[in-house]
Amino acid sequence: MTEINSMYDYIVIGAGSAGSIVASKLAASDSNVSILLIEAGGTPPNPIEMFTPSYWFEVLQKYPEIDWGYKSQPQPNLNNRVIKLAQAKVLGGSALHNATVYVRGGQSDFNAWGEVAPGWSWNDVLPYFESVEKTMEVLVGQTDDFINDLFAAAKEYGLPENPNYNTSESQYGYASFQFNNITLDSLLCRETSYTTFLPERYKNVTLVTRAIVTRILFKGTQAVGVEYVQGKNKYSVDVENEIVLSAGAIATPKILMLSGIGDEAELGKFDIDVVVNGKEVGKNLHDDLFVSAGFSIPENKTVPIYPYSLERW
Ligand SMILES: Cc1cc2nc3c(=O)[nH]c(=O)nc-3n(C[C@H](O)[C@H](O)[C@H](O)COP(=O)(O)OP(=O)(O)OC[C@H]3O[C@@H](n4cnc5c(N)ncnc54)[C@H](O)[C@@H]3O)c2cc1C
Repeated sequence: MTEINSMYDYIVIGAGSAGSIVASKLAASDSNVSILLIEAGGTPPNPIEMFTPSYWFEVLQKYPEIDWGYKSQPQPNLNNRVIKLAQAKVLGGSALHNATVYVRGGQSDFNAWGEVAPGWSWNDVLPYFESVEKTMEVLVGQTDDFINDLFAAAKEYGLPENPNYNTSESQYGYASFQFNNITLDSLLCRETSYTTFLPERYKNVTLVTRAIVTRILFKGTQAVGVEYVQGKNKYSVDVENEIVLSAGAIATPKILMLSGIGDEAELGKFDIDVVVNGKEVGKNLHDDLFVSAGFSIPENKTVPIYPYSLERW
């Protein structure tokens, strides 16, 4: 069992896409700082399937043990259906069961964020994308007769061609997908920021797995430590400098609220002491819409099999 100190310079919560990089970069920036990286999940159960991009949809269905099992509220615009909200609970986070499509994000989104959060405009973040792309490989999906037929249909429908949705000003239009995949022994393999940056290879990183952070501890309004549960035991660890909360889009606000940062009316329902009355915390989640279109093809045509994650489901 990993030996845990009573205090670290930094505590990073969640070893997903964000936490894995942050812990690695902090460790590399100064070998004298100590970092505790806390992850609720563990190592993936079937690495061969999980790291084979074309299995992604099977992985999503087959391994509930690496998923938090979140569900939406009944959705009035979807005939009140309850939608499964996949969020991974595993080293590597949701990058282990995502579709590995490489999307930098919309320039206009970054520019809107930059207006309220200086340093987050497109031109501010672009050098970081360019830097990470030197470490992680970006593969452009192939085009062939089948894909070209789909493109022709999109064009006929009136959609513009988008030569590269990651560099064009707008993401609108039809384009080949780009993927975060590498080729190993001539097979495509999933990349995650955990496997690429491997935080625990740094001597100053302590990784604790199967440990669920229950709250951030405060002295007044200053965060001073983290409480987590591992097995039947509860632990608390102090922090000297900063806590980085990178537990994903759903768990991050949840941990904030469990720690007393949220709408006081909501926190009051669960007898949680209010540290900061932040009415927006845990609200306004926007998820992207993924809609697939089914169509029949002429009998004399076959659909090619691709090795990418969006190939068979
Ligand atoms: C099904 C699916 C398909 C997707 N497809 C794509 C795609 O093709 N392209 C793309 O760009 N994006 C895709 N995404 C989104 C992308 O994977 C996420 O945006 C990204 O992984 C988010 O990174 P993160 O670090 O914020 O969270 P995550 O990677 O989810 O990491 C959060 C980590 O925190 C841990 N954690 C949570 N709560 C606690 C706790 N209390 N204590 C300790 N640890 C905790 C979790 O176990 C997890 O490992 C997809 C997501 C899903 C779910």
